[in-house]
Amino acid sequence: MGEVLNVEEIFGENVFTVGKMKERLPRKVFQEVKKVMDQGGELSPAAADVVAKAMKDWAVEKGATHYTHWFQPLTGITAEKHDSFVSHPDEEGKMLMEFSGKELIKGEPDASSFPSGGLRATFEARGYTAWDITSPAFLKEAATGPILCIPTAFCSYKGEALDKKTPLLRSMEALSEQALRIVRLFGNTEATKVSPSVGSEQEYFLVDQEKALLREDLIFAGRTLFGAPAPKGQEMEDHYFGVIRERIGAYMKDLNEELWKLGVTAKTQHNEVAPAQHELAPIYETANIAVDHNQIVMETMKRVAGRHGMRCLLHEKPFAGVNGSGKHNNWSITTDNGVNLLDPGDTPNENIQFLLVLACILKAVDTHADLLRQSASDVGNDHRLGANEAPPAIISVFLGEQLEDVVKQLVETGEATHCVEGGKLETGVSTLPDLVKDATDRNRTSPFAFTGNKFEFRMVGSADSIASPNTTLNAIVAEAFCEAADILEKADDLDMAVHDLIKKYLSEHQRIIFNGNGYSDEWVEEAERRGLPNIKSMVEATETLTTEKSVKLFEKFGIFTKAELESREEVLYETYAKTINIEALTMIDMASKQLVPAVTKYTKTLADTVLAVKEAGADASVQAELLGETSAYLKEMKSALSRLIEVEAVASNMDDPKAQAFYYKDTVKEAMVALRAPADALEMIVDKEIWPLPTYADLLFEV
Ligand code: ADP
Ligand code: MG
Repeated sequence: MGEVLNVEEIFGENVFTVGKMKERLPRKVFQEVKKVMDQGGELSPAAADVVAKAMKDWAVEKGATHYTHWFQPLTGITAEKHDSFVSHPDEEGKMLMEFSGKELIKGEPDASSFPSGGLRATFEARGYTAWDITSPAFLKEAATGPILCIPTAFCSYKGEALDKKTPLLRSMEALSEQALRIVRLFGNTEATKVSPSVGSEQEYFLVDQEKALLREDLIFAGRTLFGAPAPKGQEMEDHYFGVIRERIGAYMKDLNEELWKLGVTAKTQHNEVAPAQHELAPIYETANIAVDHNQIVMETMKRVAGRHGMRCLLHEKPFAGVNGSGKHNNWSITTDNGVNLLDPGDTPNENIQFLLVLACILKAVDTHADLLRQSASDVGNDHRLGANEAPPAIISVFLGEQLEDVVKQLVETGEATHCVEGGKLETGVSTLPDLVKDATDRNRTSPFAFTGNKFEFRMVGSADSIASPNTTLNAIVAEAFCEAADILEKADDLDMAVHDLIKKYLSEHQRIIFNGNGYSDEWVEEAERRGLPNIKSMVEATETLTTEKSVKLFEKFGIFTKAELESREEVLYETYAKTINIEALTMIDMASKQLVPAVTKYTKTLADTVLAVKEAGADASVQAELLGETSAYLKEMKSALSRLIEVEAVASNMDDPKAQAFYYKDTVKEAMVALRAPADALEMIVDKEIWPLPTYADLLFEV
């Protein structure tokens, strides 16, 4: 069987866990750390020094020479600047490895080269990183040697968020505060904190590294910009949950081991729908840790792939014509005394609380469907959302048959006297039924589905950070809880008031509920009738960040200031423009230097053949026809190439980020599609020996 891996032993091996702190810190200091972790606040400088020393000693024992404040700028990936523990030598030239509390808690990287959307003028280049004590430090094993990574938030000199973690942490606090008001109404006096839990299922593709390196598009854009479909796609449905091939299996084994060492609970693995596509899901955990861990998962997936001679593609749509990748963001809210507010519960009382929470979430999602859509948008995801495979770009909520029926009864009669499966139910409040758990069916086409005791937000892109979706979710639900609590805290008859409020919210927001097929055209029409937004692209979604409604929401709960939202909007436009620009330039490069020359060469071969065959006195009409066809596509490709060069030049010279992003979306992308069409047609005609790129068949079926 080979060497047996002791998973229990290696799990968390590279993490400075709470357990290790308990072991290595004096009791008093440990208690202080624990208190800050649970209740917030700051460590005293003295305690910080002790923690830093313990952390450094642990890291050095494990071979680390450097540490880094590990943060998540608006690029959507993580950033690190390594500092060694080396300190100034003493008079005798002896040096001690050092790490102070100050260095642990706060860093000052030069922030001038990170996107800030105008928040931080270049003359004020300083940015500050601050330790997120609730997310454990870990050791990353890299070629540089193990690096001690300290998860941090990243802010400007004035405290404006320049990253994805800061607003997420703010949104978690807002949600906690408002959710506590709700559970208090129902007599929960014990809970002191409510936290969102998140489990994110990560989809990815694996392709052979050597082949990938023959394609500039995979190198620069992470997706294929050219490529005719392979003879076989995903139509046989033989890949989904299929037997995992040896090479992929070895990769998964290695990946799991790395992740477990880093304290990531890699739990499930399977083949996905498209050929060469796979999925990994960890066990859910507190939102900010889940966000950090998802970054670690993505990074580790790429790193381990290299070791196995493969390349991991996290792009949302690496290949046209087969499924793209997403990330299902499973989200629930739990009190620190163990109550999941999305669990329908066993007693009538819990049921009522659950129905109120549910009504609040429906209200939140309906009110801010545009923002939720925005939170899941990134450049790559434009290829999925709205296309016929991923959940549509229209936000709706799937509740399942039973819950939908309860909602309907409540809306129609103000009472729900029965459950779909179970007949009449007795509850403490005669108008509300008991609910049976797990009575929900699955609906794979819904972007926001209730799945028993959590919501599954399925729109998120595979390459994107899950920080934004969770920040938005927390924020909009905090707002709905706040508005409900404002009313209910003043009520004389709480039972009646809760009942009325549930009915009101459900009646006003039931349009957001949709249990049918989200991929159908009828739904698009129906959604329009219902007045639900259908935001088709990332750039259009970006506009929703700074609407009056959005600013009011985020400012009210201290999650984003207006200036922060404006800066984010600008960064997103810039990101969009830069990404499409790289894609366009890559296409231009590939078409000019590889495709046009290859096809030209092929036409020469054909022309020579036509002449030779004719000369030999035989019929050369087929060869001539082929030559005609090839030359016609070549001409089309050449003129599409000229057009792309032209519009790309216009686009890259535009000043206004928003106008520029729209131009890339409307004009440059169209020119890219126009260039791809003749190229893909040519790939089907031209001799494979001459075609300069590995094909979809090579990439998808020969891993
Ligand atoms: P499926 O593919 O059937 O949706 P998976 O097991 O692939 O299921 O993924 C489900 C994800 O949801 C996992 O990450 C799991 O830990 C997470 N999850 C389960 N329960 C909760 C919960 N209460 N809150 C948040 N996430 C949850
Ligand atoms: Mg899954």
